[in-house]
Amino acid sequence: MAKHQFQTEIKQLLDLMIHSLYSNKDIFLRELISNASDAIDKLKLLTIRDDKYRDIEFQPRIEIRIDKESKKLVISDNGIGMNDEDLVENLGTIAKSGTKAFIEQLSGDNKKDSQLIGQFGVGFYSSFMVAEKVEVLTKKAGEDRAFKWISSGDGEYEIIESVKEGHGTEITLFVRPEAEQYLSELTIEDIVKKYSNHISFPIFLEKEVYETDETDEEKKETKKVKKFEQINKASALWTRNKSEISDEEYREFYKGIAHSSEEPLFWIHTRVEGTLDYTTLFYIPKKAPIDLYRADWESGLKLYINRVFISDGEKELLPTYLRFVRGIIDSSDLPLNVSREILQNNRILEKIKTSSVKKILSELAKLAKKDSEKYQIFYKEFGNTIKEGLYNDYANRDKILDLLRFKSLEKDDISLKEYKEGMKEEQKEIYYILGEDENLLKNSPILEKFKAKGFNVLILDQEVDAIVFPMVPEYDKTPLKNVIDVKFDDEEVEEKEEYQELLEKLKNIYGDEVKEVRISTSLTDSPACIVPDKDDQNFAMAQIMKQMGQLDNLPEIKPILEINPKHQLLEKIAKSEDSELVEDVAKLILDEAKLFNGDEIKNSVEFIQRMNRVILKAL
Ligand code: ADP
Repeated sequence: MAKHQFQTEIKQLLDLMIHSLYSNKDIFLRELISNASDAIDKLKLLTIRDDKYRDIEFQPRIEIRIDKESKKLVISDNGIGMNDEDLVENLGTIAKSGTKAFIEQLSGDNKKDSQLIGQFGVGFYSSFMVAEKVEVLTKKAGEDRAFKWISSGDGEYEIIESVKEGHGTEITLFVRPEAEQYLSELTIEDIVKKYSNHISFPIFLEKEVYETDETDEEKKETKKVKKFEQINKASALWTRNKSEISDEEYREFYKGIAHSSEEPLFWIHTRVEGTLDYTTLFYIPKKAPIDLYRADWESGLKLYINRVFISDGEKELLPTYLRFVRGIIDSSDLPLNVSREILQNNRILEKIKTSSVKKILSELAKLAKKDSEKYQIFYKEFGNTIKEGLYNDYANRDKILDLLRFKSLEKDDISLKEYKEGMKEEQKEIYYILGEDENLLKNSPILEKFKAKGFNVLILDQEVDAIVFPMVPEYDKTPLKNVIDVKFDDEEVEEKEEYQELLEKLKNIYGDEVKEVRISTSLTDSPACIVPDKDDQNFAMAQIMKQMGQLDNLPEIKPILEINPKHQLLEKIAKSEDSELVEDVAKLILDEAKLFNGDEIKNSVEFIQRMNRVILKAL
């Protein structure tokens, strides 16, 4: 007999399971059945692939028994089973990064946390929501010894050697008094039908039935007996005809494979026959998975070959920018004994992947057209994720671009197609401005020349935009241009002597605070603006650092200030004899331009003093 301590994260998790008022306790059964089904999948695959297991013959089967008197609920399977090492590793520590990520997100606020559980399958440990004690009796296929794992969810568990007939796992829940509804056959059958109807293996529930003894004509005695009855469909949902599957069935199937209580946003079920035979059932979730932006995100796709489960968590089945897709790929053209390495460079899988991506992108495009409300839900959660495809899925770039929606000067939620349709005849390019603050960007002086011409400009204010858009040269044969790179043909500097004097005056005031002061060709409403100096190495460096999210210690870039000499402020500066006032106003103009550029003002005390002096003179 050996006592073990749970890993800290598990203690936290158990504590929450037991004490939070989690509303949907039903999911514990779904999780245990899903584990049982995985265990059968694993053994089934081994009997096909591994000589050591080839002799094992078994009829996959999951059983549920209820013992009302001793308040026990028993779930058993004849899958792979576990030995003592497996028990410690699987039911004492958390290996899956997703689960760890989930626990990291827990806030300590029970209500919020239990909502999180709803979004996230937490597997075996959810049994403690309904059980005060859990026993796992298990024997690994091909091994002789059986073990029993016992815990009351209070920080430790025990493993003892035990006896069990066949391979597989039998989980006994000692049901809490307040959870006794789970000792009812009807309740259990309902839950199984709801969440586990399409588990590929039969689930049997032991039922109490009344049987009449027909052999004895005279007596015809009726007795209460226990009998196993299959309560699920046990057909792989995706193999059935679309027309025969109800929306309800699709939704429940999703909840099972995604371990989610949320409904999916929509699904795409495709059967392809011809040179390649395969079926895919993809789901787009309503909510982003918790690990969406973690480096160790987990794939929600399962690979089957001819209905035999091969693997899950395979990250290569779809490109990473579609990593939020959940579902199933089932191919009849792959050999069952493929190894992981072969899977990764497999031409058949590559082809399935290519057409799956096309299918998903085109279905998203369809959704955008016919149900903009739903599309917005999708876009809010995954819009930034699919942008990643712009730099790693070159072949589908225009298709991805078509799915994007932008803020713009003229209207929000605009697509590139719409933008193009609204372009002025003389406009030859699509313009965008990059930055962080939508409001600043929309009012940026740099946009004045675009506004003057009536050209719309896309406002790209998402972090990922600055990384991907510089790498996108065109959309549908129309160039995409950052506004800072645009110079219109009619932009010409007016060479006036008085302007030269004004420039000299300003240069003297700014000294080496600026790199250059010059006359703007594009400003109409603002007095001045800062333009990036792309020859400055620090400028390029700062861009790269910003893209990598390093916002501290950015290299300093001396600004180039462009002024609008026709602006009243500058006209007055040119004329004024009050040198003190001129200096104050000139410096305020520089600070203003910096603010518009999203830069900080270095010496805010000076700024305020200057401002006050000017105000005083104006009063
Ligand atoms: P998950 O199923 O998401 O991996 P769980 O906490 O539900 O997480 O289970 C942890 C691990 O315990 C499983 O990955 C599996 O290796 C093992 N396990 C759980 N239930 C069974 C079972 N019925 N038969 C064999 N192994 C199991």
